[in-house]
Amino acid sequence: MTMTELTRSTFLDIDPATGETIAEIPIADANEVRDAVAKAQAAQASWGAATFDARAAALRAAIENVRTRSEELAELVTREMGKPIGDARREVAGCVDGANEALAEIGRALETEVIQEDGNETRVERHPLGVVAAITPWNFPVLMPIELFLPALGAGNAVVFKPSEHVPLTGKALAGCFADALPAGVFMTVLGAGATGADLVAADVDMIGFVGSRATGKRIMESASGGLKRLVLELGGKDPLIVFDDADLAAAADCVVTHALRNTGQVCCSVERVFVADSVAAEFEGLVLERAKQWSHGNGFTDGVRMGPMVSGEQRAKVEAQVADAVACGARLLMGGQTPAGEGYFYPATVLADAPDRAALSRDETFGPVIALNRFGGDEGEAVRLANDTPYGLGANVYTRDLERGRRVARSIRSGQVGVNRYLAATSKAPWVGARQSGFGYLGGIDGARQFTVPKSISYPI
Ligand code: NAD
Repeated sequence: MTMTELTRSTFLDIDPATGETIAEIPIADANEVRDAVAKAQAAQASWGAATFDARAAALRAAIENVRTRSEELAELVTREMGKPIGDARREVAGCVDGANEALAEIGRALETEVIQEDGNETRVERHPLGVVAAITPWNFPVLMPIELFLPALGAGNAVVFKPSEHVPLTGKALAGCFADALPAGVFMTVLGAGATGADLVAADVDMIGFVGSRATGKRIMESASGGLKRLVLELGGKDPLIVFDDADLAAAADCVVTHALRNTGQVCCSVERVFVADSVAAEFEGLVLERAKQWSHGNGFTDGVRMGPMVSGEQRAKVEAQVADAVACGARLLMGGQTPAGEGYFYPATVLADAPDRAALSRDETFGPVIALNRFGGDEGEAVRLANDTPYGLGANVYTRDLERGRRVARSIRSGQVGVNRYLAATSKAPWVGARQSGFGYLGGIDGARQFTVPKSISYPI
């Protein structure tokens, strides 16, 4: 059956490694979305009035359900979006292992502050907002939703979850883990694609927690403006990595290859633009090629495969078009770049050098297994200018043996997180934030947890 033969009330869940249909999924229409929101609203008051400890206990039970169903979840992830099964298992295990610490941090973020001043006491309490719409992508289909669920629910909000249309069964299984552990109605789920997401944003929700593309983020912001709904938008990136002439080149090459190719390059904070000092560029190119050759692609259930397929034919076509355009603009194709024949949406590890600025590869998010090497004169100012020449600002990485220079450059790059002589994000306790058009609001850490609340100050003389 093709998409056109389907009624408008279902969509197909496709295995990207084979192109086969896994399931035909009913789409929630606007009425079902409104019903789900109404049920969540009705359940929220008593959930929000419970103590944080009581809510945390219920959330720990939900995470225990995730632990119990971890193999089922990992297999669904690989089946629906293609990543190697070992990576899928690590994604699920990481969520389970990190949950206690995340909940403890959320508890600290919600503590009441007491301020005494001029004979008065003020208590600053953190109240829930109401119903949070959680709308998520497919690239980390367990991690991304849980990063929204814990702070939203921990703060006393109810959640209506819409997983990506590429991972509906993963979304449904994960939703079951939460719905089974929480009071009825506190956690609701609606399945569908963009139109269902748009219906959810337009429904009577108080906040939208969204992880996905910049284009969708903008649409959500527009639609949310009527009701001045609160927003956390975690969007795309075009992350730079700078290699100065004094860098540990092997370590920098390891970082480039791993973080451009993992998850078949489908990571918001993938290394998408590499700027290498002229004097070490030829040597660096060799180190990158040596490493990139070790990244095989294949079905994610096959042992030893490091990259699964891309999630869809559309996503692969976007990458093919960017590579073809870069070559037409004069880039040197050093490795890969040929779509393999046969079933599935596979694309090989690809290395290009010297794509000019005007090439789409240099400007637009690629979201595929492509390493784009560029040279610069070696000067700090030039490196910063190149790194900042993008509307995005998610992450960045700098390699130099001069730590002072590394920190200085890190401060000048307009992005939410920078790794110096390592890949970014060394802790989950810092807020995860997109600068410029990579995001609005943030997740994680104390700051992130507080985004799901409204502070209320109650003052009285003492
Ligand atoms: P997407 O924007 O196409 O879809 C994301 C979600 O939004 C899906 O559930 C989709 O159905 C829904 N949606 C689509 N149109 C909508 C609308 N008009 N209103 C409401 N919901 C709508 O993104 P994707 O392809 O699923 O994910 C890839 C993108 O996500 C990349 O740009 C990547 O960089 C980004 N991402 C960002 C982070 C981060 O932390 N910043 C993390 C992971 C992924």
